[in-house]
Amino acid sequence: MAKQKIAIIGLGKITQDQHLPVIDKGNDFEVAAVVSQRGLSHNGVPSFKTAADLYAAMPEIGIVSVNTPPDVRHAIAREALEAGKHVLLEKPPAATLAEFEDLKAFAAAKGKVLFATWHSQFNPAVDEAKALLAKHGVGSVKIEWREDVKKWHPGQEWIWEPGGFGVFDPGINALSIFVKILPFAPFVKAATLTYPENRQTPIAAKLTFGSAEAAQPTLTADFDWREQGDEKWHMTIEAAAGHKLRLYKGGAALEVDGKLAVEAPSEEYERIYAHFAQLLASGQSDVDGSPLRLVADAMLVGRRDVTEAFVW
Ligand code: NAP
Repeated sequence: MAKQKIAIIGLGKITQDQHLPVIDKGNDFEVAAVVSQRGLSHNGVPSFKTAADLYAAMPEIGIVSVNTPPDVRHAIAREALEAGKHVLLEKPPAATLAEFEDLKAFAAAKGKVLFATWHSQFNPAVDEAKALLAKHGVGSVKIEWREDVKKWHPGQEWIWEPGGFGVFDPGINALSIFVKILPFAPFVKAATLTYPENRQTPIAAKLTFGSAEAAQPTLTADFDWREQGDEKWHMTIEAAAGHKLRLYKGGAALEVDGKLAVEAPSEEYERIYAHFAQLLASGQSDVDGSPLRLVADAMLVGRRDVTEAFVW
């Protein structure tokens, strides 16, 4: 089958690291144009300063991938849907829940496919953890998602601005795994959010979750951008039936009772684009807002702490 033409909006870090190389080597899509405020291009395809310019010049491109920071995603995605495009959204899908719900409804009204991606969900080890917890029940989940912000977000000022999510930018990846593997819906019961005195978003957050489960499993998350050295992206899980699971490497590896059960090369974006091709073929959207809702709830019930100023 011929590759489908796709345009990429925003040629920042994740576009360069994942979207472009993954699309280029895959069989489903062909990057036919890009939209870059800085005027970057890719393999000589046309580059436009705005999406409106792209839609006017190349109406034959029916699919866009929106890889900007989250605060501008809603306006860009809505403009794309209005122009009759199918849309893939990087995570987080919007800056607020109302924006997210609006996109979901607008895509449905327009009859267009909308795919709110959660890249960390696209790991075989996550699927296996989900299957094991469905079978054995959940005793506890302890999430530790700690990384050095200077290593993973070098110079990205938007992460510290309102709508930039702060440490929830990586934390929402952990939450996307959390909601996928749990056989029930978690609620944020309490949160402590630690803000650098010179910044608008948290550098660290500790969350405690509840649920409607009678056994009240212990569920916690520790997000921190002040980690030095290697990142720690892992979850320690006890199944109700006694098994111990360790999901680590950002969801790429799973140990069960101390033994490696699944470790696959990280192909999150390969799986994302394969899933997108399936969604386009079936005309269905995939829009789960639950990780975003947990972040919003942490902001609603969170206690605020202030720490020393952050400088790059
Ligand atoms: P980034 O390096 O800052 O890149 C974002 C790009 O979006 C900018 O370089 C710019 O590209 C474009 N952009 C910025 N403001 C815009 C605006 N107002 N209108 C249109 N385009 C605008 O950020 P990133 O790390 O790639 O992150 C982007 C998104 O991907 C975030 O939501 C993040 O959570 C997610 N993500 C990032 C990573 C990662 O490892 N960095 C991993 C997974 C997901 P142009 O100058 O080319 O227009």
